Amino acid sequence: MSASRDPAKTPDTDDSWRRGALAIAQFSAFSKQIPLLYLILLANTWTVAVNFMQAAPSWLTVQVPVAITLLCGARLIKWARNSRVRPDAETARKALWTTQVLAGLLTILLQAWAFALFGYGNAYQQVHIAFFLGLTAIACIFCLMHVRAAALMVTVGFGVPFTMLFGLTGNTTFISIAINMALVVGGMVCVLLIYSADFAALVHSRQVLERKNAETEKLNRENLRLANCDSLTGLGNRRLFFASLEEALTAAGTDGSRVGLGLLDLDGFKPVNDTFGHSVGDALLAALVERLEAVVGDAIAIYRVGGDEFALLARGAEIEKLKETAHGICAAIREPFYLGSTVVRIGGTIGLSIYPDQSEGSAELYEQADYSLYQAKRGGGRGEAWLFTKAYAEEMRRNSLIEQTLRGANLEDELSVVFQPIVSVAFRRLVGFEALARWTSPKLGVVSPAEFIPVAERAGLIGGLTMVLLKKALAVAESWPQPLRLSFNLSIHDIGSPESVMRLISIIGASGFNPKRLDLEITETAMVNDFSKVMAAVESLKGLGVGISLDDFGTGFSSLRQVHQLPLDKIKIDRSFTTGVHANANSRKIIRSLVSLCRDMELSCIVEGVETREELQALSELGCELVQGYFYSRPIPACEVAAFIDQARQAVTPEEERLALTEPGEMRISA
Ligand code: C2E
Ligand code: MG
Ligand code: MG
Repeated sequence: MSASRDPAKTPDTDDSWRRGALAIAQFSAFSKQIPLLYLILLANTWTVAVNFMQAAPSWLTVQVPVAITLLCGARLIKWARNSRVRPDAETARKALWTTQVLAGLLTILLQAWAFALFGYGNAYQQVHIAFFLGLTAIACIFCLMHVRAAALMVTVGFGVPFTMLFGLTGNTTFISIAINMALVVGGMVCVLLIYSADFAALVHSRQVLERKNAETEKLNRENLRLANCDSLTGLGNRRLFFASLEEALTAAGTDGSRVGLGLLDLDGFKPVNDTFGHSVGDALLAALVERLEAVVGDAIAIYRVGGDEFALLARGAEIEKLKETAHGICAAIREPFYLGSTVVRIGGTIGLSIYPDQSEGSAELYEQADYSLYQAKRGGGRGEAWLFTKAYAEEMRRNSLIEQTLRGANLEDELSVVFQPIVSVAFRRLVGFEALARWTSPKLGVVSPAEFIPVAERAGLIGGLTMVLLKKALAVAESWPQPLRLSFNLSIHDIGSPESVMRLISIIGASGFNPKRLDLEITETAMVNDFSKVMAAVESLKGLGVGISLDDFGTGFSSLRQVHQLPLDKIKIDRSFTTGVHANANSRKIIRSLVSLCRDMELSCIVEGVETREELQALSELGCELVQGYFYSRPIPACEVAAFIDQARQAVTPEEERLALTEPGEMRISA
């Protein structure tokens, strides 16, 4: 390995590396001075040669200086060529060695030449020789300062013979010059030793610094990699995703290309983690990433942006191609995963959006893909890829208006609760009411909970709404006769943290309503989100004595295992199975099996959305006990509930009951 290449990898104690690096530094410092050295030598040589032209023979005044000039010229050309190349340690060492040898040879040559001339000159010319030797020695020492051995060789080579020659002449002037020269050269040797030691120290400290810098750079690169990488899957993480998205959009803005964004959310990943443990969950993710990469190839970049959320970034995307790939991904995820002895099945839903067709910037593109995903998940598109549409854009505008208005709303004044009766078909009794939220906004008019509850959930406002609604519902229910129950809808966010559960518990505790007469409804889709949190919340609430109902059953993805694990009291079969049940054999089959499932699990079962007598008849034949729907009553305002209860109480006499009349209003409250 070259000493110049990777100082970060070389240990501090590596002496050969230190010496190699010193040779390179010497070479580079020396190569800057070498042309100067040769020029000084030539100038000195030729002034002496010219001065002795008349006195000495021509081989001394012409041939030798020409030979010296050719030698110096050749060396100059060689150095000029080398100066452009940064040598490795070995080359530098060789070049310095050659320099040392040449310096020795040149010293002998010049010395011999000067001494040969000395005999031909008069006193002035002899002084010139002394001057020449002294000057040349000093110039050489200065210029060879970085190559200590060469400099010392020149010093000794010039200094000793010079002192001897002039010291032995017996001439006082020459002797003083010799002494003077010896002192100066001695001083110069001291300077040379100090300087070369400092130079070596400087080079070493620069090496250490370079190595530290290289280490820091390496560390920075590693930190950057870690900061941008998901350690489990090796994919880019959320941070890298947003940076890449921004970069892709900037490039697309310049070259007019398209960028496609897909947000993939896994369905059923959390239950895998909960059931089989995190090691299986991790193995599943690794296997999933392998599948994703096989489907998308190089065309689409994949990032892990959350626990079970991934982003797909397609530059220069063709809409059809992107949709096709997204469908391919969903199909690949649906295939079972074989993880050792465990076989796991999950699903994946993708929301897609395209720039610039549907959005103008990265934030908008992301929101739209996210909205498509959200719509796919709640609108029957689970396990599929849904592209953002114009209708979604309209919905998003409306939702944003609802969110803004909701943020500024006076919840106490604008929110109210209506109540829909829940009826026992078998005993034709009113058993309770479900509280349903209503929002009358001075700006937007009456807004349906189907619209504002999801917006409040997404905007993180649901907690405030639930508090107001629950207090109002409990306040109305407090005056109801003993056996009547109150059902209240909770959002997943209401049971998402111990704090929010504590808030619910304190509101229920502060009301005068007996918690044993309260049913809290959790939608089935909530279970998919984080089962362990739902479980913890349900257990805390059950501690109060409240009942727990699983709402909209049949629309979500909860497994029977989860339903079995939760300490549920009731299951509410979704309206979609009720509509036209009398004429739909499939719906009947589903309801029949759900009813028997509830019976087996010793749970009560409420069928939602009964609108017609035929439906009610069919349900009652299927063994349904509790129903709710427009057939009996639409949700009624709080102020009409008391009258409704009174009417129901008086409606059926025991005599009439025997005739089994089941018209609206023919209900009584059980004693
Ligand atoms: P949900 O809890 O399943 O409530 C039943 C919904 O079906 C209510 O709609 C009710 O008016 C409607 N419904 C009842 N019987 C019939 C029928 O025979 N036919 C038809 N077509 N519809 C019927 P609503 O009041 O618009 O509420 C919609 C959803 O909004 C609720 O579904 C519930 O998920 C949510 N929601 C309502 N109030 C609250 C609340 O206070 N908190 C939370 N978190 N969600 C609420
Ligand atoms: Mg409900
Ligand atoms: Mg429901």
